Amino acid sequence: MKEVKQPDRKRIFYFYGIALAMLFLANMLLPSLIAPRTQSVTYNEFVTMAEQGKITEAEIQSSENRIVFKVDTQTEDTQNVMQKQQVYVTALVDDPDLVERLLDANVNFTQIWPSTPSPILTALLPLVVIIGLGVWMTHSMQKKMGSGAMSFGKSNAKIYVASETGIHFSDVQGEDEAKELLTEIVDFLHNPQRYADIGAHIPKGALLVGPPGTGKTLLAKAVAGEANVPFFSISGSEFVEMFVGMGAAKVRDLFKQANEKAPCIVFIDEIDTIGKKREGSGGMGGNDEREQTLNQLLTEMDGFDGSKGVVILAATNRPESLDPALLRPGRFDRRVPVELPDLIGREAILRVHAKKVKCEPGLDFNAIARMAAGASGAELANMVNEAALRAVRAGRDKISQSDLEESVEVVIAGYQKKNKILSNKEKLIVAYHEIGHALVAALQSHSAPVTKITIIPRTSGALGYTMQVDQEEHNLMSREELENKIATLTGGRVAEELALHSVTTGASNDIEQATRLARALISRYGMSDTFGMVAFEQVHNAYLGGDASMACADQTAAEIDRMVVTLVRRQYDKAKQLLSENMDKLHALSKHLYDHETITGDEFMKLLEQPKLELSTTEADDPSSQPEQA
Ligand code: ADP
Ligand code: MG
Ligand code: ZN
Repeated sequence: MKEVKQPDRKRIFYFYGIALAMLFLANMLLPSLIAPRTQSVTYNEFVTMAEQGKITEAEIQSSENRIVFKVDTQTEDTQNVMQKQQVYVTALVDDPDLVERLLDANVNFTQIWPSTPSPILTALLPLVVIIGLGVWMTHSMQKKMGSGAMSFGKSNAKIYVASETGIHFSDVQGEDEAKELLTEIVDFLHNPQRYADIGAHIPKGALLVGPPGTGKTLLAKAVAGEANVPFFSISGSEFVEMFVGMGAAKVRDLFKQANEKAPCIVFIDEIDTIGKKREGSGGMGGNDEREQTLNQLLTEMDGFDGSKGVVILAATNRPESLDPALLRPGRFDRRVPVELPDLIGREAILRVHAKKVKCEPGLDFNAIARMAAGASGAELANMVNEAALRAVRAGRDKISQSDLEESVEVVIAGYQKKNKILSNKEKLIVAYHEIGHALVAALQSHSAPVTKITIIPRTSGALGYTMQVDQEEHNLMSREELENKIATLTGGRVAEELALHSVTTGASNDIEQATRLARALISRYGMSDTFGMVAFEQVHNAYLGGDASMACADQTAAEIDRMVVTLVRRQYDKAKQLLSENMDKLHALSKHLYDHETITGDEFMKLLEQPKLELSTTEADDPSSQPEQA
């Protein structure tokens, strides 16, 4: 997409500022630089030189009160004779014989100074050059940003020229519902008459809501690409960055231009920056500016005639913080959810981005998509790029399956920390910990299968991790599945305890997750027998992590805390039970992981299913005995 943007004003200002400073300096230094090296002499010397016939040319500068004259000097170099001219200057003395002297000495003399431009010109010329340069820069900048440059007044709105966007609905994958809703808008922009004939009101605005990185901005650009109409885009933060009073002016300006260019699309990205709920009284001046901008936006949205073909798109990832006035019918009355992609969507997004890079034939994108559960479109795009970078690092010219697999792990868990050395004792603890997770998961029925276990530390701080990948997409979780998940989370700590008889801080993240799950089960999902279907938690910013706050009586909160403790303990006991019944497997698998650092899900399952075999071979140096020695 080529975007035609007003040239960056700040840069022009800088340019002019620097140019002026240079001009100032040049004016001070220039005369001495331009003028040939001159030597001043007394009038006597001048007369002597004239009499000796040394002077070839002279210029009588009456205005400067001086005579500038040239004298031929011959310097004998080792190789050749050099003809040189030395320029002298002397004060102009009121000498009535001057002309005679010069004539006698056969000097070419004149009273004009042809090679020196007038002082005004000397001062103006650089200025002209600088202004010219500035204009040229502006032009070339505009050219870089797209031909047919149009620059706009106060708003920094960019125009995306539709024919040059290159972004189409086919570039956005896994958001079929959103695309469907937006297709209608595109269709309206193509045939406004058809809608007018039947008397339908096309929504004035559509609000794209969803977590970051799900393709909201991309979708808006795709709409422009499909609709073939001018596309004004401005980011909410651009409204507020300017001086007081500019925000409202920008909004006015933006809509004025949009009206002139209709049919067109106005896209306000990150609208929450200006569209936040207005405060009751707003005593402090701080929010005034934003409120003015928002008011102006509301006014403009009401003011323009929708049938003209101006459609307003906006995107946000905190819809709940928007001022209700914005969401009223007649403004952003269409809400387009842009959610995290599902399994099929993830695969499609991976394929779209894989088209832009060279891949080995027959890559299993479905497997990658399954590994990358919960990843956003932006993360998936990043994974493909990570894989490409990895292939280059390895000196290959195509992306392989393992590049993609590794890049999923990079995005999930960070890079491998090759130089982080774990002591043998720590390595063993981590091995037991991870096998504990994996075993508990494998020994329960409703758990996602283990696909990989590794004890290679990651930059995220994880010393190891167990990856579980569901065969298919999970949208619902039963109570049993939630409980099993809690049990699996406790498995790491349980294994440390059972095998090594000590506990470490390695389980802190597990503990956090288990607690959160248990709390959600009771106070959000209504799965406790005591409270039933009552929600005590309020989730804020569902699209941005979803931090929750409790909304209940203190007594209830205490009760919930107690229930959380009981729930986690029950699952912990279950995990302990499962692992102590399978101590042989725990030892054998941990030893195997300790030796190999990474094992795949298949290996894990195979080892799990061949009882005793592994154990007998490792009995001699049972790893569980090591830490006690260390
Ligand atoms: P948002 O505006 O929702 O935060 P963006 O539209 O800026 O997300 O997405 C960032 C990048 O991630 C896009 O440029 C694109 O490369 C990739 N991406 C995100 N979602 C998708 C998708 N649904 N299909 C294809 N690529 C996507
Ligand atoms: Mg965006
Ligand atoms: Zn753990």
